[in-house]
Amino acid sequence: MEDSPCVFCSIASGAIKSNVVYEDELIIAVLDINPATKGHTIIIPKEHYNSLYEMPQPRYLSLLSVARAIAYALKLSMGCNTVDMIYTQELRKGTLTPHALIHAIPRYNEDTVNYIWQPTQFSAEEAAGIVSIIKKTLDNVKESETPKPVQTVKPAPATQAKPEEKKEEKPVELKKKVVVF
Ligand SMILES: [Zn+2]
Repeated sequence: MEDSPCVFCSIASGAIKSNVVYEDELIIAVLDINPATKGHTIIIPKEHYNSLYEMPQPRYLSLLSVARAIAYALKLSMGCNTVDMIYTQELRKGTLTPHALIHAIPRYNEDTVNYIWQPTQFSAEEAAGIVSIIKKTLDNVKESETPKPVQTVKPAPATQAKPEEKKEEKPVELKKKVVVF
């Protein structure tokens, strides 16, 4: 239990079988196993990062670029109205593992996805204070900031994989470049 395996590292390594939508040397995108809607895809950096903040800037930009291309492909192919992009970056209640990734969720008129919050009010002074502290913090956050070292997490054992599935395994075409719109 102490060195709990990372599900997403195992997906990236192929130890856990998944429906691969896209793969290159650094990134893999697969259908979510518990999809919110048809076409719900997660875009995962193959290296383990606990949060998007830890990713070196070029890696992060590559991830975003792939995520955008996939979201656009979903929009064109799924007959949805739009595609929501959700960035999962830190361990929260109900999160399986802290592995930085991006969800692309096609949205349909009849879907059951709902983001609800209770609107909060802030006075002009409070808002000014909030702006001030964000700006101050932002000044200290440099793009060139050295990210934390990548945490090594062991892939989970492939307990779920069925042996006969291996026959159907297709080699994934490696794409070195992603279309930039
Ligand atoms: Zn991981």
